[in-house]
Amino acid sequence: MSKKETKCLIVGSGPAGYTAAIYASRSALSPILVEGLQPGGQLTTTTVIENFPGFPNGIDANELMSSMRQQAENLGTRICSGVVTKADLSKRPFTVFLDGGDEIEAETVIVATGATAKYLGLPSETRFRGMGVSACATCDGFFYRGKDVAVVGGGDTACEEASYLASLCRKVYMIVRRNELRASKAMQERVKAAGNIEILWECNTQEVLGDDMGVTGVRLVRRDGEVFDKKIDGFFLAIGHHPASDVFSEWLETDENGYIVTDGRSSKTNVEGVFAAGDVQDPQYRQAVAAAGSGCRAALDAERFLLSK
Ligand code: NDP
Repeated sequence: MSKKETKCLIVGSGPAGYTAAIYASRSALSPILVEGLQPGGQLTTTTVIENFPGFPNGIDANELMSSMRQQAENLGTRICSGVVTKADLSKRPFTVFLDGGDEIEAETVIVATGATAKYLGLPSETRFRGMGVSACATCDGFFYRGKDVAVVGGGDTACEEASYLASLCRKVYMIVRRNELRASKAMQERVKAAGNIEILWECNTQEVLGDDMGVTGVRLVRRDGEVFDKKIDGFFLAIGHHPASDVFSEWLETDENGYIVTDGRSSKTNVEGVFAAGDVQDPQYRQAVAAAGSGCRAALDAERFLLSK
């Protein structure tokens, strides 16, 4: 068990966390970054990234994340493996406790713990993850140009993803478990306006069908008990995300879905000296490049906060 000290502790190792680390290192804050359960973050669950600027031929997601990690380390970030199990943000310096028993005392904290997409929990869904099953249409939709796909969910995200996919794909099925959409009227109008979206009402997914090459279809069960298959090449989940804010929620204000609330365009939370960056505070955009930008803002906010003290 050890006790470390830093001017800036960053929790999370996705694009927000590493970018915050790069900026905080260059501002001589000698940051410590705690990697968390999934080093590299959500991106490491996908394959090729084609929409991160600077890589005209796309880049392997794991390679991108390990390059960000390397860059942060080269600039002086101390990287700790481990998971934060408890935090005391009642006074500065703040104290954060790790699963191995270590403690870190920090003048400022940047929470960049991300969010995880919810999945249905079907074994077939797990089997084809990355082979036709995806929880991000903006990331993976491009690979289904001219093909037929399905989107599960009836909220704003599902409507947005379905509308985006409709611009690329031949046909988009929306699999909705009730007889109405939860989404806002504006989003519902967008879905209606697309000529190639068909809503399969009161349907639940029984199984994702596929072979060695990936997804080939989906087996659905309607509320009346009818079981039927649809041929598809891509199966997109849009049933919500879970922000990883639990360990800090005793101290930090969150919205009704658990996203950390930040002050306007800044990364400031309700606790002075604690900042939030990336998907843990962003239900809207959820893109690697947006998270990276917000990590940069959080590091600059932390630096300015320390200068003001
Ligand atoms: P929501 O929680 O709003 O919607 C989730 C959808 O998935 C619901 O239709 C829900 O069905 C369905 N669902 C949940 N679990 C299952 C399951 N196990 N099987 C089948 N269907 C399931 O999540 P969103 O991600 O859509 O939105 C989150 C927040 O972000 C919202 O506040 C939303 O307004 C906001 N947002 C806004 C956008 C915008 O304005 N441009 C874009 C994206 C998100 P049911 O309705 O039956 O519960």
